[in-house]
Amino acid sequence: MHAAATPVLRDIVLVGGGHSHVGVLRSFAMRPLPGVRLTLICSDTDTPYSGMLPGYIAGHYGFDEVHIDLRRLAEFAGARYYRDEVTGIDRAARKVICRRRPPVAYDVLSINVGSTPQLDQVPGALEHAVPVKPIRRFNERWLALFERVRNHAGAVTIAVVGAGAGGVELTLSMQHRLRNERIAQGRDPEALRFHLFSAGAEILPTHNAAVRRAFESILAARGVRVHLGAEVGQVDAGRLRTAAGEVLEADEIVWVTQAGGAAWLADTGLAVDEAGFIRVNDFLQSESDPRVFAVGDCASLRGHALEKAGVFAVRMGPPLAENLRRSVAGEALVRYRPQTRWLALIGTGDKHAVASRGALHARGDWVWRWKDWIDRRFMRRFTEFAAMPEAAPANSAALPLDEAEKAQAISAVAMRCGGCGAKVGATVLARSLAGLRPVARDDVLVGLDAPDDAAVLRVPPGRALVHSVDFFRAFIDDPWLFGRIAANHALGDLYAMGAEPQSASAIATVPPGLERKVEDDLRQMMAGAVAVLNEAGCALVGGHSGEGRELALGFAVNGLIDARLAGMTTKAGLRPGDALILTKPVGTGTLFAAHARPRSGVVCRGRWIDAALDSMQVSNRDAARCLREHGAAACTDLTGFGLLGHLVEMTRPSGVDAELDLNALPLLDGAADMAAAGILSSLQPANVRLRRALRNQEEALSHPSYPLLFDPQTAGGLLAGVPAERADACLAELRALGYAHAARIGRVLLQGEATEPISLVV
Ligand SMILES: Cc1cc2nc3c(=O)[nH]c(=O)nc-3n(C[C@H](O)[C@H](O)[C@H](O)COP(=O)(O)OP(=O)(O)OC[C@H]3O[C@@H](n4cnc5c(N)ncnc54)[C@H](O)[C@@H]3O)c2cc1C
Repeated sequence: MHAAATPVLRDIVLVGGGHSHVGVLRSFAMRPLPGVRLTLICSDTDTPYSGMLPGYIAGHYGFDEVHIDLRRLAEFAGARYYRDEVTGIDRAARKVICRRRPPVAYDVLSINVGSTPQLDQVPGALEHAVPVKPIRRFNERWLALFERVRNHAGAVTIAVVGAGAGGVELTLSMQHRLRNERIAQGRDPEALRFHLFSAGAEILPTHNAAVRRAFESILAARGVRVHLGAEVGQVDAGRLRTAAGEVLEADEIVWVTQAGGAAWLADTGLAVDEAGFIRVNDFLQSESDPRVFAVGDCASLRGHALEKAGVFAVRMGPPLAENLRRSVAGEALVRYRPQTRWLALIGTGDKHAVASRGALHARGDWVWRWKDWIDRRFMRRFTEFAAMPEAAPANSAALPLDEAEKAQAISAVAMRCGGCGAKVGATVLARSLAGLRPVARDDVLVGLDAPDDAAVLRVPPGRALVHSVDFFRAFIDDPWLFGRIAANHALGDLYAMGAEPQSASAIATVPPGLERKVEDDLRQMMAGAVAVLNEAGCALVGGHSGEGRELALGFAVNGLIDARLAGMTTKAGLRPGDALILTKPVGTGTLFAAHARPRSGVVCRGRWIDAALDSMQVSNRDAARCLREHGAAACTDLTGFGLLGHLVEMTRPSGVDAELDLNALPLLDGAADMAAAGILSSLQPANVRLRRALRNQEEALSHPSYPLLFDPQTAGGLLAGVPAERADACLAELRALGYAHAARIGRVLLQGEATEPISLVV
């Protein structure tokens, strides 16, 4: 979470985490522009670096060596990262339309989404071929193909359609890997047959004759059958047919021919070429909208027929970064001049490569080592942040603002008074809340549909009111997601008690700034929260908002329960003999502490944060019902005090002891690594004081899960005591309900003589 010293004046939104945008993020990390906020929206947190993909396929690199972690890079750059798929652009409203979240506003937009295969142009290809593009889906397709070939009895025939550099390199890399795999399996590698199809009269049409000859001899020596002038016109299950009528029976058909632009690009109204790529001028700016830039494969540069290759996308990064800066500053843009000749280092899968540049060529194992050195150096620029200098002190931004914006910007940095002056302006508030549609309930007599000084609620006959409040600062720079998690966190208390959520009042703080930015943050945050409240049947009935240094949100929530308290679960209900069940993995505290420190030298993977965010959004509703149905009498939700703190809160009023099995503790991916690296939440020291409740602490100190006993949780799972004989059935049902990590983590014991209530199994 980045608390900006300067209010946000302009938003640059980057769509897609392609090879150019990673360069932009790095550029802004090294030289931030005050008042300008970057947001990256990408469907995949790990984006592949194309130059190393063939080496990955050949088995020379691991997954993390060839993927750039966009969440981590964005954090390093001080940029927002939204993991979502973009489906369109509302250019009139200047908003990016996403699959899951509300539209994202931009002042300047840049698109770097790569290309998609045009399989629909060849009958049957869509159904029966494996496309290499989009590159982001390639890894899962490759792993599936790899497994099929591994498990395929007898001979396997693989056809690769497309004999440009990508097709040739892919064929040789796959062959190398699959042969090695067969040998490791003790099977005959000669039973793997490869065919390469080229529509043209030769392979590698964009390279010189010497390079072509080198590859012709390599392919021949490796037993790859090359079919020239063989345009594939039809694909069926296990078979392809060329336009000339040649038929090949093939177990796998891999498609590496030219791709086109994603269909949604054309729907934006931006000018596109015949293949559906966005037409851009020399400044990488859309020919039809100066606020929109496009780069990499998805751009079609006026006057140049650039190859769709990662090398061009990489080279577009620096001029794009410069033009994005200049664009928000209202300055003249710089031209991008593509190279007329470029160096291609094409691998042969066996740590050998061929260099090609204009009319020059060279080959050898040394070329592979050279390529490996270049590629690894490139990747280090996006992965090793510890060694990089801190960003230079910010210059004051000279952004062209209109009069109203200037006034709002001055007001945002000026000393704000407290009291009523600290409230978000009424117009901003009204506009941000206008689109919210809280659920309607009969027991809400005065709610947000007729806002008054206070809400009026009815407690239905035979019911009692359960009330709780929660409030915390944003730990992630994504108001919508934060809103969802804050609401889910608040509802956790009600579910833990066995109550049905009824109503909620929000309290929010938003950093001051331009009215439309404040409005947007508030709208996004409340849209996320209301969606979660609505799913729970909980009506948002009121709230209060104010300005603060950081985004923060909390809720006072009301729930309903049987007036005789039948079915209520409390902290005091643990019984000796109960099995202790935890419904979600722990580790959010250490993970977010590590994520916020990208320069620490400790690598906190973006996909771990993705998984933690997913876990925080899982509602405790079904788990609470399931636990009660299996006889739980005691239940609590894990939040700031961590597992141990909450367990002690249960053992004490219940008059029992408990045994916790550290080996059974479900952990979020990466949590143990981050704790072992010594990166812990700022709340951890306060929680650690509770170690005095542990009977055999010394034995557990070196256990990897030990520090996570104290790890504060946000929107954590439920901890409950269930009769031991029902624990297995309860766990089976919890897992069927989607709580994949639910686990039996210990048991409740009769209170003994020792003053420490908790003993650990290590
Ligand atoms: C197997 C293989 C090997 C290759 N080898 C080489 C090579 O050695 N050298 C070379 O120069 N080229 C190579 N290429 C070609 C190269 O991969 C592409 O030209 C290059 O990836 C294009 O880069 P890009 O930045 O335009 O987009 P991409 O690298 O495709 O990145 C696009 C990004 O946008 C995201 N995205 C896509 N759609 C959306 C959406 N709707 N919403 C949000 N995010 C979205 C994706 O998740 C991804 O992060 C290879 C391609 C393949 C498939």
